[in-house]
Amino acid sequence: MQNYDLLVERIAKAAKLEREDVERRIEAKKAKLSGLISKEGAAQIIAAELGINFEDQTLKISELMAGMRKANVIGEIINLFPVREYSKNGREGKVANFVLADETGSTRVVLWDVNHIGLIENGTIKQGDVVEIKSGATRDGEIHLSGFGELKKSNVVMKDVKTEAIVNERNLNEAQQGQNIRVRGVVVQVFQPRFYLVCPECNKKVAKSAVGGQGAGEQKAEEEYKCAEHGVVVPKKKAILNFVLDDGTESMRVVMFSDQINALIPEGDLQDEKKATAFRDDFIGTEIYLSGIVKRNQLFNNLEIVASMAEKVDVEKLIQILSD
Ligand SMILES: [Zn+2]
Repeated sequence: MQNYDLLVERIAKAAKLEREDVERRIEAKKAKLSGLISKEGAAQIIAAELGINFEDQTLKISELMAGMRKANVIGEIINLFPVREYSKNGREGKVANFVLADETGSTRVVLWDVNHIGLIENGTIKQGDVVEIKSGATRDGEIHLSGFGELKKSNVVMKDVKTEAIVNERNLNEAQQGQNIRVRGVVVQVFQPRFYLVCPECNKKVAKSAVGGQGAGEQKAEEEYKCAEHGVVVPKKKAILNFVLDDGTESMRVVMFSDQINALIPEGDLQDEKKATAFRDDFIGTEIYLSGIVKRNQLFNNLEIVASMAEKVDVEKLIQILSD
């Protein structure tokens, strides 16, 4: 909501209107569109109708809104990640990321242009520097900068920069047991999926018990599965997927269960060896966002992430959006 308030203020100031007047227009617009858009979205439309062009203004990080095509911000680089190379569908390239912060908040900036990335590779721009970004595109809470954008050092002196990075976002080499983290990394290894059986009613693990066939001479015992609550059931197979994620600072094993797996591949497909292999081949080398909790694996005595969310960073799509 803080974002929205700043936005209203900015519109009011630029249009020389009372705050209340701007808010009334936003509410009316939202009602007219049957509430299909957010307050922030309605505010953007009102701003456009009033002829206010955010593209000429330097915004505070907390004022950035989704879907901006030409966002301008100034901030300090509080976390610079190693430049990464990718190769996907025959396209090779490099991508660089850093976290930019000002006194209102922080955001991740993703660089796609070789010249911008070069500034980081040759040390012209480094962690701790204040930089100015022009014509960035906002997407998923990040600023993406293509060759049409600008990145340069700024002489602006930043005060009271919010140095806590984006909530929970951190490097894997800083991850500690018990933390909820969000990381962005590349899948470097994928293990064979494993399966376990659950009750189709309550999704709890079922216990196997043998019935009959105990006598000598019988070949094989018949098996049945029992749910503590629902008795004998025909169990459902659930998958567990393990893979290794590398964010450039360290690699860490990730454990993923069915709900999260389904966001990447229908869980049932993992039972089909061909489909599972195809998924694995495709998944290795993919860049993903991953959220989860860091736990200590008792067996290996190392840290691993139990995933709560995984989403592919769609390089193709981003490049397409940026070159539209
Ligand atoms: Zn059950």
